[in-house]
Amino acid sequence: MEKGWDEGSKKIIMSTNLLGHNRVQLEAFFAEQGEKAFRASQLMKWIHQLGVTDFMQMTNLSKGLREKLAQVASIELPEVTADRLSVDGTRKWLFTLQDGNSVETVFIPEGERGTLCVSSQVGCTLNCTFCNTAQHGYSRNLTSAEIIAQVWLADRLLGREGPGSHQRVITNVVMMGMGEPLLNFESVVSAMELMMEDFAYGLSRRRITLSTAGVVPMIDQLKQRCHVSLAVSLHATNDVLRDQIVPINQKYPLKELMAACRRYVEGAPRARVTIEYILLGGVNDGDDDAAALIRLLKTVPSKVNLIPYNPYPGGQYQRPSNRAMDRFRSHLIQAGLTTVTRKTRGEDIEAACGQLAGQFKDRTRRSQSVNVQ
Ligand code: SAH
Repeated sequence: MEKGWDEGSKKIIMSTNLLGHNRVQLEAFFAEQGEKAFRASQLMKWIHQLGVTDFMQMTNLSKGLREKLAQVASIELPEVTADRLSVDGTRKWLFTLQDGNSVETVFIPEGERGTLCVSSQVGCTLNCTFCNTAQHGYSRNLTSAEIIAQVWLADRLLGREGPGSHQRVITNVVMMGMGEPLLNFESVVSAMELMMEDFAYGLSRRRITLSTAGVVPMIDQLKQRCHVSLAVSLHATNDVLRDQIVPINQKYPLKELMAACRRYVEGAPRARVTIEYILLGGVNDGDDDAAALIRLLKTVPSKVNLIPYNPYPGGQYQRPSNRAMDRFRSHLIQAGLTTVTRKTRGEDIEAACGQLAGQFKDRTRRSQSVNVQ
């Protein structure tokens, strides 16, 4: 709800931001207005496919409805505060929200594929020891409008091939930006539903990946509500180390996490969970760690994504040598595990995994150096 002041009636008017409403929510909204359900499809098409935010321009709605919408509703977007382009084509934006907080969103082009990395919270509560976002604390959950706004803005800022074209540059979305998406469940699910909606972004559920540090009960909920691709930030193969580097493990230990991964792909013969494993030099990158990982994944339909640690100022770990990473990977491949080493992208603009920081309203602005293009 946005508050506004109506000079004419001298009343505070509440207007609903419709940007983050999925089909079900829009249908309910139109029902309240005494309108038919198909208005939801029309509105989603205007907002998300044609990029129109002014109700008066929505010409297939009657003039009366347009005027009513302009009174009771709005389409609010964050501001683009920074826009940086890496030498490798990766692009990072800082979007400032209405309350002054801001979040980062990253676009990673790779051949035909264009992946958008979306944030779900301002900051994060999980305190993983290798992650830059954690160093900055937590401010709040994003609303579904603030989550889908990242896709809306990126889609426009990247430009599409011709006005109204369905040829989108964003082919995949990963919920891997700032925050733990499963701790902001309803808003994240709502936004992902819009990403999959034919009249909005039309992405298949396989092209959306949600990454979690391991909020076990919500993994089961996700399967029921919105069965997108799942990635799990594993990073350690025993509870002693994982308790330390991914502290949520103290609540949901490895055994429970692995069981949740198995349940997630149960009944879907070709589905696999992506296991993310950061390689931290001298901490979890040895031959014995590779052997333990192979054992752990024996019973989980999975593919492994090895992520070289991305350093950031004040970070306490080292990236392993290329030789150590290759060695680790070949152990996994020899054991028959599908394994890729994630390329580090956008490092020169602090857009790589674990480097996203955003800017919080309640702390001194650190990064005055962002270049607005
Ligand atoms: N909270 C979710 C979503 C964040 S995803 C999760 O933990 O999965 C961000 C990914 O980047 C996670 O796999 C995370 O473990 C990884 N990451 C965090 N810090 C990193 C760093 N310094 N170098 C490389 N990867 C990092």
